[in-house]
Amino acid sequence: QKRIGILTSGGDSSGMNASVRAITRVALQRGCIPFAIYEGYQGLVDGGDKIKQFGWENVRGYLAVGGTTIGTARCVPFRTREGRLKATYNLIKNGIDALVIVGGDGSLTGADILRAEWTGLVDELVATGRVTKAECAHLREDLAIVGLVGSIDNDMSATDITIGAVTSLHRICESVDSLTSTAQSHQRAFVVEVMGRHCGWLGLMAGIAVGADWVCLPERPPPLNQEKYGDDWGQEMADIVGQYRTMGSRKSIIIVCEGAIDRNLKPIKPDEVKKVLEDKLGLDTRVTTLGHVQRGGSPCAFDRYLATVQGVEAVEAVLRSTRDTPAPMIGMSQNMVISVPLMDAVKLTHSVAEAISRRDFKLAMDLRDPDFTS
Ligand code: ATP
Repeated sequence: QKRIGILTSGGDSSGMNASVRAITRVALQRGCIPFAIYEGYQGLVDGGDKIKQFGWENVRGYLAVGGTTIGTARCVPFRTREGRLKATYNLIKNGIDALVIVGGDGSLTGADILRAEWTGLVDELVATGRVTKAECAHLREDLAIVGLVGSIDNDMSATDITIGAVTSLHRICESVDSLTSTAQSHQRAFVVEVMGRHCGWLGLMAGIAVGADWVCLPERPPPLNQEKYGDDWGQEMADIVGQYRTMGSRKSIIIVCEGAIDRNLKPIKPDEVKKVLEDKLGLDTRVTTLGHVQRGGSPCAFDRYLATVQGVEAVEAVLRSTRDTPAPMIGMSQNMVISVPLMDAVKLTHSVAEAISRRDFKLAMDLRDPDFTS
């Protein structure tokens, strides 16, 4: 009978609750005992009432609630071996032999490190008398780890979509639609900064969905027509925005991802974009930083679905797990739930940043979306 700890970690995202609900209920159906670990890895390090056995009723009403009800945190102690030793102690005391982590690449890396150190940590606790051999007899060999990706950024390679990204996209579209009506009335330009860190997915998808004039992305820095514009992305943008105005548009919407850069890797900031629009086109321009409204609110239907089907697969992956198989990350590819080695996905994700830093933008885009179905 597996005892499965569930935690949400890193930045919150809508749909995390739906995954906690699915993991809890499928675990119960499959004869396992689920435990909620509150406040991410902090709860694992602190133990006590931050680790609570969950029943069917504990997750009632979770589907429609945004964020994560069991809490999340950035936990510095877990980055140290001492912190992970405390976490191991608390896992042993609760008899937990599997962990499902819903978080970003950092959270999944932390879990993989814990698993790699597991036997050594258990041995140390036994040797120093903090736990007895009997307490950890069935836990000694391995800690099963499964990762789900909860992130609004959709920045994890090896999966098409992450839990929370589509809800965030909806929030952005609603906000930009509101800005569009005022922009239209006053013939203004709006420069809208969106989240996503070093990933342009939110910006690109929002740009398509709201019909933006221009989008500044990290993975495909302007100017796009280098032959004509050299390094002058501002002129390229002004030409395109100006062209739409000539065609009769009364508003201009420019989306700037928070990680947007130019071809020399220099960050593109919304105020700089505003200045270009004012100086080159004389447009009355306002900057709007959407900020944390993008993170929150009730998850959209897709995120509830995504979190639920992945939660089901997470429990199956725990039950399949063996000591010799690498910890899996549950993802999506071509509308199918997939399971890939977690650290392969993390490494691919990091190699996107490396490719961008080498200005190999084509490779960066390919690495964001490798084909994992074959
Ligand atoms: P997001 O994408 O929202 O930032 P994330 O999971 O990448 O999510 P991080 O802050 O990087 O967010 O990681 C969350 C927590 O995971 C950290 O506070 C820390 O406790 C743990 N963690 C991250 N990286 C490591 C690591 N290399 N070793 C051990 N623990 C780690």
